[in-house]
Amino acid sequence: MDIKNKVFIVTGGASGLGAGTARMLVAEGAKVILADVQDEVGQQLAKELGQTYVHCDVTSEADGQAVVDAALKAGTLFGLVNCAGVAPAARTVSKNGPHALDLFQKVVSINLIGTFNMCRLAAAAMGNNTPEATGERGVLINTASVAAYDGQIGQAAYASSKAGVVGLTLPLARDLSKVGIRCMTIAPGIFGTPMVFGMPQEVQDSLAASIPFPSRLGRPEDYARLVQHIINNEMLNGETIRLDGAIRMAP
Ligand code: NAD
Repeated sequence: MDIKNKVFIVTGGASGLGAGTARMLVAEGAKVILADVQDEVGQQLAKELGQTYVHCDVTSEADGQAVVDAALKAGTLFGLVNCAGVAPAARTVSKNGPHALDLFQKVVSINLIGTFNMCRLAAAAMGNNTPEATGERGVLINTASVAAYDGQIGQAAYASSKAGVVGLTLPLARDLSKVGIRCMTIAPGIFGTPMVFGMPQEVQDSLAASIPFPSRLGRPEDYARLVQHIINNEMLNGETIRLDGAIRMAP
């Protein structure tokens, strides 16, 4: 698919997987709206790429709509890549006592409800697009995690939020297929981004070593290549793809 001049929104676009995706899309000739809450880094990257940055907390309806409006101003909104997310430090119930409810709610709110918020707003705009020759009007790509299937001790909030993103994929795809919009989810394993770089080096090394092949952390480019493939393959719809080098973690 020729995505030249088509507009893509990338949430969490200031950092990590989102920034890598934005770079790939711009290299392919697309226009990108970077949406994030890290304004300084986001603005810097947008300037470097010659693109637009919009402050957006994905849990906010008004912020989400402002991003969609900016995209429509730039041209035809064809894609949404939802990379915004948070992964709090592990918090057990057994050792730390009852898991703080507000932390659980915050993680689910950003990772799951934020993803849905952006999907529904972007899809409403994409539904007005003139369809491609294939009938396609746009594509939504969300980011779950292998934690959705393989949640570790202390990851109750994160794993639940990401399992929710997996669960969102098929009903949204079936619903939006009626108007020519696909919905796919990527479930990354362990990627070298600020989210993981915050861990002690020995933890990062042991995580990398536990990936059967390749025995290295994933890179934003690995993620971006799968985004590119999803955009280009219209048969991919309603599915979650693990991108994890076959990692399966012992509890
Ligand atoms: P990252 O921390 O580099 O990027 C996440 C971005 O999301 C940041 O720029 C942050 O500011 C933004 N963000 C956080 N809350 C937001 C909000 N309310 N509204 C808008 N933006 C917000 O981490 P990353 O590794 O690039 O993570 C991208 C996605 O991939 C996340 O959803 C994460 O859960 C998922 N993921 C990452 C890994 C990994 O190993 N790095 C593994 C599995 C899944």
